[in-house]
Formats: sequence, structure tokens, C-alpha cells
Amino acid sequence: MHVLKAVELTKIYGGTHGSAAVRALDSFNLLVKAGEFVGIMGPSGSGKTTILQILGTIDVPTSGRVFLGEREITGLKGKELAVFRRKHMGFIFQDFNLLDALTLKENIILPLVLEGHPVAEIEARLEALSRRLDIAKVLSRHPYEVSGGEKQRAAAGRALIHRPDLVLADEPTGNLDSRSARALMDALDGLNREEGATMVMVTHDPVTASFCSRILFIKDGRLVTELRRGKDRARFFQQILDTQAAIGGDGHDPA
Ligand code: ADP
Ligand code: MG
Repeated sequence: MHVLKAVELTKIYGGTHGSAAVRALDSFNLLVKAGEFVGIMGPSGSGKTTILQILGTIDVPTSGRVFLGEREITGLKGKELAVFRRKHMGFIFQDFNLLDALTLKENIILPLVLEGHPVAEIEARLEALSRRLDIAKVLSRHPYEVSGGEKQRAAAGRALIHRPDLVLADEPTGNLDSRSARALMDALDGLNREEGATMVMVTHDPVTASFCSRILFIKDGRLVTELRRGKDRARFFQQILDTQAAIGGDGHDPA
């Protein structure tokens, strides 16, 4: 069963009022099975963020369709779209996107509170998740009172607490040191295995990508090749480096 299906996604930016049109995605297809952890890599400007924004219903394609389960999500609008996104999706961003006025606990449980879930159920889910994410001791602190790694693990908790059908992450380790990045990926890897959380993640970092079960390499808005992880993460890491070298560009946005 496929959780996510994207069919012939094309995205053209601009082209009106005399601006040059940019074809950011060109007939891009994607099938993701339940429980997969899919990585998307490619040079800067290859269309990675555009893909994630369309899959996450934050942007709409110029043409093409996206299905989450049986449901077509391209074309959902307004309140229906907002409710659908809140119920079925979770997001992790590079810059955490936590609310500073709330504690980590309040940030994490917000999606369940908005859905009106029973308090006991929320507390139980929070406890299990925060243990897995190693943030149980800092739940009562505000985002400005914890490390970047703890912030991002809290953001992961918020993305996963309502057991969404799909978790989308755009450069989740982009603002983390290598040790915090490793801790986040260990936790996401564990949650992917234990809960069968389906995840799609954009990253330019080969170590971060090596935690995925499959990686799609894109260039100029098209799929170039894909890699599947075997048992050995070290070997997968080397394959990622080799593929990046072959495609050219490490995906870093020039400063
Ligand atoms: P990546 O995340 O792989 O770096 P993006 O998806 O951000 O790539 O961008 C893909 C292409 O689309 C690039 O050429 C980029 O300049 C262009 N692009 C992205 N967003 C916009 C926009 N809002 N308006 C015009 N062009 C855009
Ligand atoms: Mg990007």
C-alpha cells in the first residue's frame, strides 16, 4: 500500500509580467510505501524544497497530482486543507519553528490539544515520545532555554505526536552540530522503525541521508537515480558520496 503518490508533478515559477519562467519540477513522480524513510538529495536549486512544499500542501503544482492514501490532496482548499494538513501531516523545518511563548511540552502537544484529544492520552503519548527523543528533562523549558539539538528533537516530537500519515522534513540537521544531528537522526530512525512513521526528508548532508531507507537524487527537477540502503549504513554512506560526486554539486546553498 502506498501512503504517498505524486504523479507527473511540474512546477513553473514566474513567466508572467515579463519575468523569466523557471521549470523547478519537470514531470516528477514519487511512490512512498507505508513505513519508508525516503531522502531527497540534489544540487542547490534542483527542486528539493519545491517537492516538499507541494507534498506538504504548502504550495500547489502547475500540473500533476498528489495522493495521500486514497485521498487526492492537490485541490484541497481553505479550512478543509488546514484541517487535513493538521491531522495527517507533520513537519520538521531547518529553523525549528517552535513558538517561543510556549514551553517545549506545550509546543509538542499543541496538535493534539487543537484536535481535542483526552488529557490522559496526550500525557501518555508525550511521555513515550519525549523519552525516545531524550528531552524528558527539558519539557518545562522554553525554546530559548535549550540547545539547538533539544529544540529540533522537540520539533520532531511535535511533528510525530499525532501519528501523522506522513512526516516531511526539510534540512532538519541544517542548523545542528554533528553530534546533535546524529542524536536527532538516531531518534528519527528509531521512531521510523518502532512506529512505522513514514517520512520524506530533504538533506544535503550524506551522514544525515545515510539514515534513510531509500534516497532519490534529483537534478533540474527530474529524478536522476535512486539508492536503497542495505544492512550496512557505512557502505550506504559511501554510495551516497559516490553518487553525489557523479551528479555534481553537494546541494549546499551558496552563502
Ligand atoms: P532546492 O531546494 O533544491 O535548492 P528549490 O526547490 O528551492 O531548490 O528551487 C528550484 C528552482 O526554482 C530554483 O531554480 C529556484 O531558484 C526556483 N525557485 C524556487 N522558488 C521560487 C519562487 N518562489 N519564485 C521563483 N523561482 C523559484
Ligand atoms: Mg531547498
